[in-house]
Amino acid sequence: MTAPTPRSVVVPYITARRGEEPEVAAKLGLRSGGGLCYLDEGLGDRDDQGVLWARCSQTHEDGWPIGSPRWSMVHPSRQRETMQGLRCQVCVVQTASRTASGYLFIAARPKDTTKADWPEGALTWQPPLCLDCAVIAVEQCPHLSKAGPVALRARVPRLYGVLGTLYTTGADMRPVPVVVSDEAKDIPLPYKDHLLRPWFLASQLVRELRGVSVVDLEREIATARA
Ligand SMILES: [Zn+2]
Repeated sequence: MTAPTPRSVVVPYITARRGEEPEVAAKLGLRSGGGLCYLDEGLGDRDDQGVLWARCSQTHEDGWPIGSPRWSMVHPSRQRETMQGLRCQVCVVQTASRTASGYLFIAARPKDTTKADWPEGALTWQPPLCLDCAVIAVEQCPHLSKAGPVALRARVPRLYGVLGTLYTTGADMRPVPVVVSDEAKDIPLPYKDHLLRPWFLASQLVRELRGVSVVDLEREIATARA
C-alpha cells in the first residue's frame, strides 16, 4: 500500500517573500501643505483616494514571486492589486469566485463573540479567492484552521480604507511614525477620515463586506462542478 503523497504547500501570490524589502524611511518627506510624500514621488505611489502607499521591492520570475515565504506578512502592492481588482489572492490568474450571493471570502471567526451582526459589515484585508484556491486556503492556512474558517459571500464588498502606519512631524521636521498599541495596528483608517488620510502610509487595502451570507464551501464546489 502506498502512503498518500502530501499535497505540496501553495504559497499565495500576496505572501511576502524573503529578499523583498520595504523602502527606507529616508525617502519619506513632508508636503508643504502638511502630510506625507515621497521625495521622489511618482505615479502609482498614491491610490485613487490620494493615500500614499508603502513601497516594497518585488522579486519575480516569469511573473510569479520567488523567494521563501514570510508567512505572516503580505506584500503591499500584491495585496492591493488583488483586493482592488477582486482577483484571487492565491493564484491571481482567476478573478474571485462570484455567484448571485456575491464574492467569495474566507474569514477567521472573530475572537470577540459580542459582535452579533458578524459577518455583516465585517472589515477584511484578506482579498477574495477563486473556489479551487479557497479549498487550499482552508486546508493549509494555520491561522484559519486555528480560528475556524468561515466561507462568506458578500454581494457588496465596498472599499472602506487602509491598514498601515500613521505619521506625524518629528522634532527635526521629518516624518516619524506615531507609536500605537498592537491592537491599534489592526484598526483600519477609513477613507472618509480626511483629517488623518494625508498622514497615513498604507500597506493593505480594506473592504467592508455588505450583503453577506455564510456559505458551505463543499456544497459550493459540488454545485460548481455539477
Ligand atoms: Zn485562485
